[in-house]
Amino acid sequence: MSTQLLDGKAIAQKVRDEVKGEVAQFVAAHGRPPGLHVILVGEDPASVVYTRNKEKASIEVGMRGVLHRLPAETSEAALLTLVAQLNADDTVDGILVQLPLPKGIREEKVLDAVDARKDVDGFHPINAGLLASGRPGLVPCTPTGSMRLLAEAGTTLAGARAVVVGRSNIVGKPMAQLLLAANATVTIAHSKSRDLPAICREAEVLVVAVGRAKMVQRDWIREGATVIDVGMNRTPEGKLCGDVDTEQAMGRAAFITPVPGGVGPMTIACLLANTVKAARARIAAQA
Ligand code: NAP
Repeated sequence: MSTQLLDGKAIAQKVRDEVKGEVAQFVAAHGRPPGLHVILVGEDPASVVYTRNKEKASIEVGMRGVLHRLPAETSEAALLTLVAQLNADDTVDGILVQLPLPKGIREEKVLDAVDARKDVDGFHPINAGLLASGRPGLVPCTPTGSMRLLAEAGTTLAGARAVVVGRSNIVGKPMAQLLLAANATVTIAHSKSRDLPAICREAEVLVVAVGRAKMVQRDWIREGATVIDVGMNRTPEGKLCGDVDTEQAMGRAAFITPVPGGVGPMTIACLLANTVKAARARIAAQA
């Protein structure tokens, strides 16, 4: 069996081009660009890079992208004040608080304070509840991007056996909800699951979001499966790698996402798409 790599970079560019067109339409209709506000507290080096990339990407598609950089000593109260200001500002369509927050600031308290209609990360309990209820809302970006990759691969989801390894609120759980909504038969596995290789072998669609370098081996993969590797890990040599041993998956899976260049690029592209979606939904609700 020949294995096809799913080119997340190219598909993410396609999504960005679509969003660019939607932004132009939004500007023509409403006289202002959608606004994405990213809040970074402290100087965590990875977060500095991520937030700059988000700001840059939003500006590239014609949005108003604003990065709010606050010192590490910022109090929870001050951060909540900024969130409240952005919630009240009608030109702000998306608010993203970069995680992790410094010690002393309660993440849940801050994430819960973001107006659910502007919660472009889809982390607010209202959005999680809407997704679980099969109702429209804002859905976390990484699972949204993973679903788009499956669609681009032409994967049949209705009736398919899907396994999601990992049950975080950011990736695993919403991914499982999306697959269920697409009529797959979904199993969620985690660190307490017994005989994980056997569970994975059942999967026609295997999504792995664990954070353990090259955990999924060749004999865990069903012949002809579509494998979405969400993991982002470093090898001892410092190279980026996924949760799946990609080399071993070659010749076994029908499709697999490479790391880097698979799911990663889709996340920011879907953040941009979520911002336009949030902007449109808020305006539609005001009409
Ligand atoms: P997380 O919050 O740490 O969750 C990890 C999940 O994996 C947990 O549910 C955990 O189970 C499960 N797990 C841990 N060890 C396991 C094992 N040995 N066997 C089976 N399951 C195991 O991580 P996350 O935020 O979901 O992220 C997962 C990975 O995706 C990370 O590598 C992260 O960097 C990457 N990621 C990538 C993107 C992207 O844009 N590409 C975005 C987000 C995350 P328990 O619940 O039982 O502890």
